[in-house]
Amino acid sequence: MINYQSKFSHIYVEDQARDLALSKLVLKKFKNSEIIQIRHYKDIFNRTNQDFQLQKRAMKLILAKKTGPLLYPATDMVQDYKNKNSFYNTPALNCLYNCEYCFLQGMYPSGHLVLFVNENDFFIAINKQLLKLEDPTKPMIVSISYNSDLMAMENLFPIISRWIEFAKSKDNLIIEIRTKSALFNSLKNISPHKNIILSWTLSPEVICKEFEKFTPSLDMRLKAVKSALDAGWDVRLCFDPILILDDWEKIYCLFIDQVMNKINYNKLRDLTLGVFRMNKDYFNRIKKSGLKSRLYYEHYVNNSGTITLEEDLKKAVIKTMKNKIIEYLPAEKVMIWD
Ligand code: SF4
Repeated sequence: MINYQSKFSHIYVEDQARDLALSKLVLKKFKNSEIIQIRHYKDIFNRTNQDFQLQKRAMKLILAKKTGPLLYPATDMVQDYKNKNSFYNTPALNCLYNCEYCFLQGMYPSGHLVLFVNENDFFIAINKQLLKLEDPTKPMIVSISYNSDLMAMENLFPIISRWIEFAKSKDNLIIEIRTKSALFNSLKNISPHKNIILSWTLSPEVICKEFEKFTPSLDMRLKAVKSALDAGWDVRLCFDPILILDDWEKIYCLFIDQVMNKINYNKLRDLTLGVFRMNKDYFNRIKKSGLKSRLYYEHYVNNSGTITLEEDLKKAVIKTMKNKIIEYLPAEKVMIWD
């Protein structure tokens, strides 16, 4: 088990964030960290010539106030499930894990963790959007873990519990919390609610080991999924990104059997599938940074600015995966990123 508390030897605190409740709570937890007052988080986070991977090894924490935008329309990179009312937001930037395929390495100049502590402003932005939905017959869906893994940090920073309480109070809002964490226990005192989707990203164990550094094993994640299903939560599984290793068909078919044999799959809300894909600029930046990962030397195509698999291979992968999954789930529960 990694001691994340030892990571934050320094905590940078924006002047305007210091007195907010979440800042106070975090600062109380990290009494031994050196606190450095700063004017604006970008003075630290956006400096030039930072080394993302070096900073991941000695991660500092930045407490800041986000001034906007506080809500983004879902892009092509976020599966919006054909709902026009789909959004994402960023209560945190960066993550305690370090997956080799993570686009954040190419997106952000820094590997430090930023927590935006003005959660009420995020809530207000959602309240306003709820009044002007493009399709008022459907709920608004907000992915709150797009640029981080909030459940992995919940024991340190109780962010998702606050989001869950907020979402429960709304008639027309669903929040999706995507995670690779095994820390479902951090929600043990919270009752499930139809407005919350807990989404677990699962990968075959060989992929967890090689490409998803610091994440819990497949087995640990499956225990968390099982506990969430047994407790009555709405659970989505994400097999995304599917990585094409030698023997990928065999590896992924065994993986699907392994997953379904460990959980009550009839209780799953749905399952999403997606192959490796990344914005071209992020991909090139990561490759240039010297990250030693074979992932960045595979054969890909540039599909209108997105680096991904060739169309034929992508179709074959999705078909193989879907055919296997529908041995367990009805086809309409399987959603595909394309
Ligand atoms: S868990 Fe998600 S956000 Fe965190 S490093 Fe992995 S891909 Fe990136």
